[in-house]
Amino acid sequence: MEKLLAYLSFLIPGRFLTTKYLFKRLDLISADPATCDHEWWVVASILETVELQVQCYNCMTYSEVTKPTEGEWADSYGAMENPYRWEDVTRIRLYEVAGTKH
Ligand SMILES: [Zn+2]
Repeated sequence: MEKLLAYLSFLIPGRFLTTKYLFKRLDLISADPATCDHEWWVVASILETVELQVQCYNCMTYSEVTKPTEGEWADSYGAMENPYRWEDVTRIRLYEVAGTKH
């Protein structure tokens, strides 16, 4: 039931929810990053470092793809509104969850 409520809470704008609940919701919904079979999606481009930000939609972990090609960089424009699948896992930089590399 709590998990169902957590999904329903996505209908409510984040600003109406407490930070504490947002973190709790992540716990309720997310897979364990340590055992997750990651499914990466490009969700943003990081202008400062020219990297693509990717997020696993199963465990919600963030990571980056370094040194995108010009085409990949151009594609990532608008990823925030329209995330798309990233298949090449070999190019995803090691990411950290609570200080542990996976
Ligand atoms: Zn994952």
